[in-house]
Amino acid sequence: MTIQDKLSQLPQVDEFLKSAHGRRWLETYHRKIVIRSIREAIDSRRREILAGGDPDVSIDAVAGDTEDAIRRYSAYKLKPLINATGVVIHTNLGRSILSGRAVENMVAVAGAYTNLEYDIAAGRRGKRYSHIKDIIRELTGAEDAVVVNNNAAAVLICLDTFARGREVIVSRGELVEIGGSFRIPEVMKAGGAVLREVGTTNKTHLYDYENALSADTALLLKVHQSNYKVIGFTEEVSIERLAQLGRRSNIPVMADLGSGCMVSLEKYGIYDEPTVQEVVRQGADLVTFSGDKLLGGPQAGIITGREELIREIQKNPMLRAVRVDKMTFAALEATFMQYLDEEKAVRDIPTLRMLTQPVKDIKKRAGRIYSLLKKAVAGRAEMEILPEQSRAGGGSLPEAGFPTFVLSVRPLKVSVNTLEERLRSGSPPVIARIKEDALLIDARTVQDREVKILTDCIIAAFGD
Ligand SMILES: *Cc1c(COP(=O)(O)O)cnc(C)c1O
Repeated sequence: MTIQDKLSQLPQVDEFLKSAHGRRWLETYHRKIVIRSIREAIDSRRREILAGGDPDVSIDAVAGDTEDAIRRYSAYKLKPLINATGVVIHTNLGRSILSGRAVENMVAVAGAYTNLEYDIAAGRRGKRYSHIKDIIRELTGAEDAVVVNNNAAAVLICLDTFARGREVIVSRGELVEIGGSFRIPEVMKAGGAVLREVGTTNKTHLYDYENALSADTALLLKVHQSNYKVIGFTEEVSIERLAQLGRRSNIPVMADLGSGCMVSLEKYGIYDEPTVQEVVRQGADLVTFSGDKLLGGPQAGIITGREELIREIQKNPMLRAVRVDKMTFAALEATFMQYLDEEKAVRDIPTLRMLTQPVKDIKKRAGRIYSLLKKAVAGRAEMEILPEQSRAGGGSLPEAGFPTFVLSVRPLKVSVNTLEERLRSGSPPVIARIKEDALLIDARTVQDREVKILTDCIIAAFGD
């Protein structure tokens, strides 16, 4: 057969669509995607023929490739995956996963109209921020609150509202960078404020702030050293003392907490994190924190503080540009409600649960993963359960290493990089880390409901 003859045997797109395969696909998938996939599969056979090959070009033979392409094009680009890195608040993996309650509440409001800006009792227009105010007030002790898109936006809008064209005093020990694009000096510029640095990297005294005060001072800002620690010969001024200075000089004190921890984690051996309630009690006039770090909720920036200051922020037209939607409110309100019972919060909010779970429970989960894999990968990998350290991530608790247990998988017939790559491109993707020539599956961040799926993925990655 000549190349011409072979080419003429390639199926036509129309023929394909009318076949049993085509009719079945059209019932489930978008027509555009089906056609694109058929064309692609036919084209690849055409290229094979032109390169001298003799592929089977019957519709049945081409259907497999076509279906793979249809699946690939129909899959969403943003998708759930399994985090086996042990990093609990992994910014690249979407930070916190939501509690069941938060998810339920989001689903409940998602497909329905809501009273987002409607006062049901009065039968007229209401306020977007009213729903969340009472619960935040009750939990933090602050007078009022407003919620924006993320903590970066929270800091920005505070600067824009109170310090545009004026000075903000910050210690040199707190000029932090968080994840590349959030750097205090740059945020200051973007917020139109003039940064007035005081003190040194390791030591800042109250008199440093006092000496810098002027008629131009708009804010005293304290930034929580979320992702690093200055140790040794150091001194910083507490919120309490800064707040006293602020009151004496009639200048608001703002604390950017970053993580926004709502329960004391000391009984779990985590000491570094001040709670929002403490900082409010110590007299900060404005406190900002993230929704999706230690709080364990959706991406959001929460600003709590004195009523008249929050009112000023609500009058700022920029608030419209950073406002949150009903989905965020739904998830955030449900998450906050869970904090009414601290013990339940620690148990039911995944971020807190993962950070505080007893190491013996993690070891047990690693053991379950091991036993589900043992037979299936026999002869293809050496496996053992090892003690390791996980991290909080998300710029939270930089010093704390969390003792954990990992399943170490040392593949014998493929390289560890190949195994890692196959797991990453599987469905669902599994993200794990490589140490020397072993793949480490950290059981801390694997959810119980994911164990079976995870082991199926690993077995599939070994399959030839
Ligand atoms: C994380 C963090 C931010 C930024 O918060 P996002 O929610 O990521 O916008 C700002 N300040 C501090 C101190 C942080 O830790």
